[in-house]
Amino acid sequence: MDHRSANTTAVYYQVSKKMKREAVDTLRVLAIDRQGNSAPMGSATAYEVRSVAVPWGNCVEPSNVKAGGNACPIRFQRSGCGSYRPDPSHLPAIEDQVRSLKANLELARAMGAADYTIKGMEGEFADYLNVVKRMKAKMESMPDEERHEVEEASKILRRLRAGSAASGPVALPMPVVRPADEAGA
Ligand code: SF4
Repeated sequence: MDHRSANTTAVYYQVSKKMKREAVDTLRVLAIDRQGNSAPMGSATAYEVRSVAVPWGNCVEPSNVKAGGNACPIRFQRSGCGSYRPDPSHLPAIEDQVRSLKANLELARAMGAADYTIKGMEGEFADYLNVVKRMKAKMESMPDEERHEVEEASKILRRLRAGSAASGPVALPMPVVRPADEAGA
């Protein structure tokens, strides 16, 4: 940082940490599970310690969290996993994923893919779509001020993820973001 004194840098950093913590505090209570049911994190610390960021939502599976997101025990099965914990900050990425899955599904059908392949893709598509619908319904039910707060907090966490994707693992709450073509949830 191009600041004239270390103190200036320290103040800037403290504000940044504060913003991050406030964003986590706003969003941790809005986490849901793969079926769209509310699954809030008990505290910002719990969110930071127990979750690891993957492209379309956090993961709370202990061994994967311990390994920084590199040790999914079920081969990154995306929305079909009980440890999947998206929150509103993931909404744009999940919507992109829904569009992509829809196109992939149509292609797989046209290619005559096996039934078990089609069924798996249909299930994944349906679960992500359900997550989007439940999350949007929750957002729409909020008073304007609260929804604005959630949207601003979401932008902060998305920026953090984008930064960590560009520079490698960073401090929690977003320790690892796996490339979209490697990770699954
Ligand atoms: S499938 Fe996704 S949410 Fe489930 S354990 Fe693996 S990385 Fe975590």
